[in-house]
Amino acid sequence: MIIIHRGGTTFMRVTHGLPLARKTTLGIGGPAAVFADLEDLADFPEFVALTKSYPGAPTCLGAGSNALVADAGCSSPVLRMNTRGVRVVGEAADGRTLVEVQAGHPLTDLVDTTIGHGLIGMEMLAGIPGTVGATPVQNVGAYGQEISDTLVEVTAWDWVLRRHVTLDAAVCGLGHRTSVFKGSSRWTLLTVVFALRKSALSAPVTYRVVAERLDVPIGGRAPSAEVAQAVLAVRRSKGMVLGCSGAESRTVGSVFFSPELTAAQAGQLEGEGASLNCFPDDSIRVSASWLMRRSGFALGSPLAEGVRVSYLHHTLVADEGATAAGFTEAIGVVVQRVLEQTGIRLTPEIDFLGDWPQEGDTSEPADSVVLDRA
Ligand SMILES: Cc1cc2nc3c(=O)[nH]c(=O)nc-3n(C[C@H](O)[C@H](O)[C@H](O)COP(=O)(O)OP(=O)(O)OC[C@H]3O[C@@H](n4cnc5c(N)ncnc54)[C@H](O)[C@@H]3O)c2cc1C
Repeated sequence: MIIIHRGGTTFMRVTHGLPLARKTTLGIGGPAAVFADLEDLADFPEFVALTKSYPGAPTCLGAGSNALVADAGCSSPVLRMNTRGVRVVGEAADGRTLVEVQAGHPLTDLVDTTIGHGLIGMEMLAGIPGTVGATPVQNVGAYGQEISDTLVEVTAWDWVLRRHVTLDAAVCGLGHRTSVFKGSSRWTLLTVVFALRKSALSAPVTYRVVAERLDVPIGGRAPSAEVAQAVLAVRRSKGMVLGCSGAESRTVGSVFFSPELTAAQAGQLEGEGASLNCFPDDSIRVSASWLMRRSGFALGSPLAEGVRVSYLHHTLVADEGATAAGFTEAIGVVVQRVLEQTGIRLTPEIDFLGDWPQEGDTSEPADSVVLDRA
């Protein structure tokens, strides 16, 4: 490991050959040719200088909670955002408080901090792992709240223009678990600004399971700390909080997007007992986990070597012996069976990072799905 010092202070650690499996929640992935840990934004230019010796844009990693890294690892430099900090930077025209957050700041801490300061807009996101810089990438959301509800702008390094840019939320292309950043390595997000309303009571609770725990009607409100606790309790029951579920902890949460349904599909699935959700973009969606259950996957059932369905919830988890090839094989098994049983094609929500086999490369499993890799 090379440790670069400035005036006696450690500011960026650069490591060669670091196994990326250690930096992701799935615990899968080969080595990074170059791995830099950024603790202080002031040192970002050092990283930009470092990348000049390597072709292509670098790969950015937060907490690795939505990432499947290739078994071959990553030949482009990997930047891990470890910057921390939350500060109030002003007031929006509508009176909301503007909060600027460093990209490496943990989302769970931001949720707690904003609730502690009487600000609402993040309370339903309690328990989602990862860094704040990754939240616009897939417009992170849960239980009726999404980053698009509060995002004002991001500052980023643009690897095409090779300069800092500020992108207004309106140009970020935020949609259902997507944005212009999803699948693109063009931008490294450095800071994120949110507009949050001052209130002791949460935003309206729109999810039945959360409303029932709080004993409020759907659309009702409750103290935001209590809402966050209710959301956490629901998430824990499904193993959707990291560290709460032992053997189930090698996960990325949901591996697949919740597919959008046509009116006919929605009517049919509702008749079969599916719980459908209406999203801000007016799409009606069903969760991939419901489709997996409907397609006959039993909890805990094996899918590929080292990969199985969780014992708690219909999602994929990794065990001893899991590889990226095995995980993609497992994804293929699920996609195929759900398509056969329901006529609906699931698409991976997970981000595929690193050096994946190219088309025609025989090292890729023959029955693997076509993945949306950048
Ligand atoms: C138990 C569990 C529950 C989850 N529940 C939810 C949920 O309810 N809702 C939800 O939306 N997600 C959920 N997730 C997925 C995940 O937590 C989010 O996608 C989170 O935002 C990922 O953050 P990260 O820092 O771990 O990003 P990583 O996994 O490290 O990276 C994800 C992607 O973002 C990119 N990226 C990361 N940081 C930056 C940056 N600073 N600039 C540019 N690109 C960047 C990476 O290159 C990669 O493409 C869950 C995951 C787990 C493990």
